[in-house]
Amino acid sequence: MAARRYAVGIDLGGTAVKYALVASGGEVLFSGKLPSRAAEGAAAVGGQLIEAARICCAEAARLGFAPEGIGVGTPGVVTPEGVVAGGAENIPGWENVDLAKLLGDATGLPVRAENDANLMALAETLYGAGRGASDVVFLTVGTGIGGGVLIGGRLFGGFGNRGTELGHIALKCDGEPCACGSTGCFEHYASTAALVRRYRERCTAAGIVPAAQDGEMLVALYRAGDPTAVAAMEEHWEFMSFGVASLINIFAPERVVIGGGISEAGEFYFEALRERVARRAMPVCGAGTRIVAATLGNRAGCLGAAGLIINE
Ligand SMILES: [Zn+2]
Repeated sequence: MAARRYAVGIDLGGTAVKYALVASGGEVLFSGKLPSRAAEGAAAVGGQLIEAARICCAEAARLGFAPEGIGVGTPGVVTPEGVVAGGAENIPGWENVDLAKLLGDATGLPVRAENDANLMALAETLYGAGRGASDVVFLTVGTGIGGGVLIGGRLFGGFGNRGTELGHIALKCDGEPCACGSTGCFEHYASTAALVRRYRERCTAAGIVPAAQDGEMLVALYRAGDPTAVAAMEEHWEFMSFGVASLINIFAPERVVIGGGISEAGEFYFEALRERVARRAMPVCGAGTRIVAATLGNRAGCLGAAGLIINE
């Protein structure tokens, strides 16, 4: 049996910096979080990342082992050298940040950095719902749609690691404006925020006061048979199925793993989605594909970050 390996995993988000000490196999030995201080600018955020790394290194020393390195996930585009090039809209000034140098200088450990959604994809493939599969498409459906792709067990990033913005593939070429600057994007129609927005638009058009403010409330209304909620969910599944079928036609993944709050709605959510995807994906492409719920929840970011170092 291979020797047990250890790494620090750090996951930077708009509100919190999550951190964990992780052992081979994805076992979390210690974890916690700090405020990310995003409103105070890049230097404050960098300071919080260093603090998280130091907390983990101190705990590792107390437990009597040495982590091999630090993996860190961040919003935005991350170069193969570990520099945040930009694209992290919810952290002002978070661009041209050399994370590898910042955390390497602070701890003396090797550092690898990667886009946060890519790390969730890696975590689900190494330790979660994609375990055992070599070719995985991961989607996280929430305020937007993020994603990652593993090909032959490795994260696919495109040239300069700038790719896999799966939420911004085109669903409607003449559609509404998207936050990215284009129109008709997958996330603008199929995210949980879109589901709620379009449900409320339906209510307004019908002269009904909307009873749901978020995805969870909407799913509860759907299960209670509320006709407007049912129509909104049916439409959501339509939008999701076109996006997922397109991704299946491109990548022919062994698994499509879907995370984010909506994926916790229950098995009925996946049954409805699978049935629609089966009608839209080319049968020859989707013949080996299973669509499954993510299993790691909000631990995925730290686990994927650590997985960059201890990638079994
Ligand atoms: Zn877009």
